[in-house]
Amino acid sequence: MAGKRKNHCSFCGRSEDEVALLLTGLNGYICDECARQAERIVRESLGSKANSKNGNDLGLDINKIPKPRDIKDFLDQYVIGQDSAKRYLSVAVYNHYKRLMQQHDDEVEIEKSNIIMVGPTGTGKTLLARSIAKLLKVPFTIVDATVFTEAGYVGEDIESILTRLLQVADYDVTATERGIVFIDEIDKIARKQDNPSITRDVSGEGVQQGLLKLLEGSVVNVPPKGGRKHPDQDYIHVDTRNILFICGGAFDGIERKIAQRLNTHVVGYDSVQNQQKIDTKDLMKYIVPQDLKSFGLIPEIIGRLPVLTYLDQLDRDALRKILTEPKNSLVKQQIKLFQMDGIELTFEDEALDFIVDKAIEYKLGARGLRSIMETIMIEAQYSAPSNGKKKLSITRKYAEEQIGKQKERLVKS
Ligand code: ADP
Repeated sequence: MAGKRKNHCSFCGRSEDEVALLLTGLNGYICDECARQAERIVRESLGSKANSKNGNDLGLDINKIPKPRDIKDFLDQYVIGQDSAKRYLSVAVYNHYKRLMQQHDDEVEIEKSNIIMVGPTGTGKTLLARSIAKLLKVPFTIVDATVFTEAGYVGEDIESILTRLLQVADYDVTATERGIVFIDEIDKIARKQDNPSITRDVSGEGVQQGLLKLLEGSVVNVPPKGGRKHPDQDYIHVDTRNILFICGGAFDGIERKIAQRLNTHVVGYDSVQNQQKIDTKDLMKYIVPQDLKSFGLIPEIIGRLPVLTYLDQLDRDALRKILTEPKNSLVKQQIKLFQMDGIELTFEDEALDFIVDKAIEYKLGARGLRSIMETIMIEAQYSAPSNGKKKLSITRKYAEEQIGKQKERLVKS
């Protein structure tokens, strides 16, 4: 008696024994590998067509997307203070979703509002962006503007921003085209006047022109760098119309620029009043787009970053909260590390105050908290797992000793 006839993939011809999975259709079969390949081809070739679908087709529902208040509540769990930036970001992200959902059946088109966050280093710009990423169901990537140079120079082409987004989206072009990109250190591509030694403006205007194209919304040819999935394909076409860009930069000295502008723009009685109001702490409140222009950002770029918000310098109170309050605060992380060794770790309040004092003394802001914490904890992390003690309390005295030891090491070396 003849054996049962084997089924074959209608695309590659391999038999069911030769493949992991064979799916049955009406008049044929497809194997797992061909199905995967077909999916890739569909993604790549229909990417931009799929983009013309509205958000409802993409599975977004106005009732299900987080409202600005929800987004801010979420950010509050991770980021201390920075209320203004949180509000702006929450609204911008909400509007981003709305724009993805808009029906194109009338003449009103919701345009995207890219965002720029200005604030000193270590105040939470990247943290805000990362926290947003946790919440969102769209691809998200963080890039550093300092790596970009004009095509042909050492460094990365601006298009590589989209390569990264594509990678995050697993080369799903449709998903990529509604993603969010955080560009850090945007002020560093604007510094051309301050660098007279650079004869060719490698990291200045050319890069900005390239960036402008992305911000404005255009179809960009993206090299699928390192993408083994596309051995014979040179470029993937990505439409940036719906990609939301969030830029961050310290813009060192911007407060001086704001002060200058405020002083020169007010006259008479008003000027005296305004001068009284202007103190370093509140200066950022008055920031307007034209202040960025003096840093060498071309006006077109500024125009394409209409949502401008700022982050405050973190004061003692904020630094103290950062140590303990965020969901994954440094203290909580240390406690967890020791917990895994069965050790109950506690910090005395005075020890935490000391860490904050040191961060302020070293002028390191929140960024310094971590390295100070690590320095204090290194000894305990080294010995506690094997010394058998089940409890450990970090006192101010202990913290001081550990920092002292570090200083000795530095002096000796
Ligand atoms: P920026 O991007 O503004 O230079 P980051 O977001 O990278 O600063 O902050 C550096 C680190 O400092 C973060 O990883 C975080 O641990 C801490 N940090 C900074 N600002 C805050 C804040 N407002 N709330 C909580 N943690 C913060």
